[in-house]
Amino acid sequence: MRIYHDRDANLGLLESRRIAVIGYGNQGRAQAQNLRDSGLDVVVGNREDEYAARAREDGFGVLPIGEAAAEGDVVLLLIPDEVMPELFSAEIAPHLDRGDALVFASGYTVAFDLLALPPDVDVVLVAPRMIGAGVRDLYQAGHGFPSFIGVAQDVSGQARALALALARGIGSTRMGVVEVTFAQEAELDLFTEQCFGPAFGQVLTSAVDLLLEEGYPPEAVLLELYMSGEFSYTLAKIAELGLVEQSALHSRTSQYGSMSRGMRFVLPELRSRMRQGLDEIRSGAFAQEWAEEQAAGAPTLAALKEAARSLPLHELETRLRQELADTPGLVPQRTGATATGLEPGGRLEAAARQGTLRRLWRRVRGRPTAAPASAAPGPALGTEQLEEVLGRFLARAADDAALQAFARERHMTTHYRLRDVGIEFYLRFDEGQVSGGLGAPPAPAEVVLETEAEVLDGMLSGRLNAMRAFLGGKLMFEGEGKLAITVQQIQDDLQRLYTGARN
Ligand code: NDP
Repeated sequence: MRIYHDRDANLGLLESRRIAVIGYGNQGRAQAQNLRDSGLDVVVGNREDEYAARAREDGFGVLPIGEAAAEGDVVLLLIPDEVMPELFSAEIAPHLDRGDALVFASGYTVAFDLLALPPDVDVVLVAPRMIGAGVRDLYQAGHGFPSFIGVAQDVSGQARALALALARGIGSTRMGVVEVTFAQEAELDLFTEQCFGPAFGQVLTSAVDLLLEEGYPPEAVLLELYMSGEFSYTLAKIAELGLVEQSALHSRTSQYGSMSRGMRFVLPELRSRMRQGLDEIRSGAFAQEWAEEQAAGAPTLAALKEAARSLPLHELETRLRQELADTPGLVPQRTGATATGLEPGGRLEAAARQGTLRRLWRRVRGRPTAAPASAAPGPALGTEQLEEVLGRFLARAADDAALQAFARERHMTTHYRLRDVGIEFYLRFDEGQVSGGLGAPPAPAEVVLETEAEVLDGMLSGRLNAMRAFLGGKLMFEGEGKLAITVQQIQDDLQRLYTGARN
C-alpha cells in the first residue's frame, strides 16, 4: 500500500480552476479556508442562512448552490450524505459542464448508487480522517491529518492527480494519504460506526453496570473507566506509538495483568457479529434500510435516541460532568491527568464525601422506567405461573385484531428465550395471521430476543421500556435488527394482552 505525501501532489493542477465548496458546515468551512490559504480560488455555495452569513464573515463570496456549481470547475460536495441525492439531482447535476470534477468527502452516496453521475465529469474522493475543526486547526498549526482518496470516474485522465492536489490543498498530504475505492471508504466508515463503536460501547456499559452492582462509588467508576480522560489519552498514545509499544507507558503490574488476562476476552461471537454487520453494509441492506427510515421521518432513530437519554448512565454522566466542569483546572479531554477534582477540597471530592452521586445513582437505578402508575408490578411469578400466563397471552394474541393488522404484509417470527428459567415461546406474524406457542418455533425465527423472566415480565407489564432494556444490555437480540425494532410498534398491544393474561 502506497502512502502519498506533499511531494507526490501537484497543487499547480488547481491553479487555473475555480473551486466551488457546496455546504459551509463542519468540513465545508474547514476545507474552504485551507484551500484558500493554500492560494486557491474558492467560492462557497449555500442556502441563504446562518451558514452563508458565516462564510461571508470569513471573507468568501457566497452564491446559491446551483450558481456555485455552475461557476466551479471543481465542485466539492460538503453537505450531509442524507440530503445529497435530492440536492444533487435538483441543483448540482444540471449545472455541471463536461470536464468538471466532482469531489466527495465520503464514499456513501456513490458506493450505494444514490446519485445519477453524469458520465463526462471526473468523480473523486478526498475524505479526511478528521473532524472539520481538526482539519482547520491542524492546517493552521502547520500539521497534517490523514485522508483517503479515490477515483470513481476518470474522464480527464488526471483524476487521481486532482484528488492528490486537493488533498495537498487542505493540508492532508503533509501527513499522508491512502488510496481506496469509494466502496471501501464507505464500508470502513460504516463498520466503525456500526460494529467497532457499538461493540466498544457495550464493553463500557457492561463494565459500568458490573462495578456499580458491586457497590463501587459511581463517581469513582466513571472516572476510572473513562471520564478522567486517561483512557482517551491512552488511545491517543496507541495511535502514536502502536498497541504494543504504548504498553511501556503503563506499570509492569498493568502490563502483566492485561496481557495475561486478555485471552479471556477473545470471543468468537464478537467476530461473527461484526461479520454480520459488515455483510449488511456491503450488501447495501443497511443503506436501503436507512433510506426507508428517513423517508418515514426517522421514527426509529428518534425512539432510540430517547431511550438512550433515559438510561441511568446518561443522568449520572451529566451530573458528574457538571461537578467536574465546576472544578477549577479540570478540563474534560485534557491531555495530562493532573487535576482530578478528587484532590482534597475539590468539588468532586466534596460531592463524593456527601455521597451526592451515589444517591443519584441509587435514585436513577431504582427507577427502571418512567412507568405509568397503573403499571404496578404485581406479585413476582414463579416459573409455572409464568408459563401459564404466557399460554393465555399467546392464545389472546392469535385472536387480536391489532396484532392481525400488524401481521398484514409481514412474514416474521419472533422467538423469545428466557435464559434463567429455560422457557421459550414464539409469535408468528404471517399475512394477517398471528400464531404462537410455548417452546421453540417450528422454523428458525427472523428475530430472537433473549432476556430474563423478570425483564420480560417488566417489559410486557409496562414497567420496563423495551428499547431501554435493549440499549442497557438486558435484552439481547439476534437476527434482523430492523425487524426487531418493528416489534416496538406493537409494544402497547403486547402489554395490553399480557397484562390481561397476567391478571
Ligand atoms: P454538515 O452537517 O456540517 O453540513 C452542513 C452544511 O450542509 C451546511 O452548509 C448546510 O447549509 C448544508 N445543508 C444541510 N442540509 C442541506 C439541504 N437540505 N440543502 C442544502 N444544503 C444543506 O456536514 P459535514 O461537514 O459533517 O459533512 C459533509 C461531508 O463530509 C459528508 O459527506 C460527510 O460524510 C463528510 N465527512 C464529514 C466529516 C465530519 O467531520 N463531520 C469527516 C469526514 C467526512 P444549510 O443548512 O444552511 O443549507
